[in-house]
Amino acid sequence: MTETLPKIRALEVRCVEVPMARPLRTAVGSITAAPLVLIDVVTGEGITGRAYIFGYTTAVLAPIAHFLTNISEEIAGKTISPVERARDFDLRFRLLGHQGLVGMALSGLDMALWDALGKVHGVPVVQLLGGEAVSLPAYDSYGILDPVADRPVLEQSLARGFRGIKIKIGGGSLRRDVETVAAVRDILGPDIALMVDYNQSLSVPEAIRRIERLADYDLHWVEEPVPAEDVHGHAKIRDVSPIPIQSGENWWFPIGMAKAIEAGACDYVMPDLIKIGGITGWLRAMGVAETASIPVSSHLFIEASAHVLPVTANAHWLEYLNLADAILAEPLAVEDGRVTARGPGLGMDWNLEAVERYGFTG
Ligand SMILES: [Mg+2]
Repeated sequence: MTETLPKIRALEVRCVEVPMARPLRTAVGSITAAPLVLIDVVTGEGITGRAYIFGYTTAVLAPIAHFLTNISEEIAGKTISPVERARDFDLRFRLLGHQGLVGMALSGLDMALWDALGKVHGVPVVQLLGGEAVSLPAYDSYGILDPVADRPVLEQSLARGFRGIKIKIGGGSLRRDVETVAAVRDILGPDIALMVDYNQSLSVPEAIRRIERLADYDLHWVEEPVPAEDVHGHAKIRDVSPIPIQSGENWWFPIGMAKAIEAGACDYVMPDLIKIGGITGWLRAMGVAETASIPVSSHLFIEASAHVLPVTANAHWLEYLNLADAILAEPLAVEDGRVTARGPGLGMDWNLEAVERYGFTG
């Protein structure tokens, strides 16, 4: 085995807008196709590291891609070590700051570097991290739904073995929230974990009022009732909530998680790989969650999340939302409601014909 790591030759970056099997309606807007930036870290040794960034809107695809292309020249000739590159970027962008599109781009690049590193060693990333590719409990993640029209798809989720279902609520009246939750609980029966997500749409008093009325439906968690940055508002709600509070997908880097946990914002955390600093950031953030004994779920990025949850203390749920399926050579399989990491690296190859078909150049 070589002791010299491959060096980065270039970053190849492509933007796509890929159809989603289920459009995602939330209380603060809808997503009907997944805007993704695909990153290929090309090395001089025939290894290519891959990852994707979910941009939420096509408006940011070109800026993220352009930024990555710009730093491609700066990192050419450097090794694929994710930790060394994270150290460089921390210095390089300290004055500008890491949040927002820069943070997303660097997090995606970090994941692609880990993928390359796994491929160098011929193992899944989870093994590089000292873990094993164990099968993980996943919940099927829905947007706002209509319990009558969507009953067949919910039943399909149960037939696939999912033991947890998340739905989005809010964006309408409290009465509609209660009716939706009651109807979905009725479809699922008593033994399936049911989570709800307000997508940051409420005020603190309104969240307290609504959550109290949802207490009868054995909800597993209520996610982001108020804006994510309002960690003290989350803490106020948590103080009186009969249902555990979940948050984390909008915390930036491990420091963001540390501040939220210090404020007592939630009972559960669910960091997002693209906002927490990629796999390197996830590993650092996990120490904070572990010392606070908080269960950790993942947010999006199912392929990479399957590698980091097995090495996470108090791992909870993997959120199953298969945004990238249409451009992957082989989508990640669900078996009896569970998913398992695959390799080498993060185990993702592009379906190049689909990448071409869904290419976004706006
Ligand atoms: Mg959410």
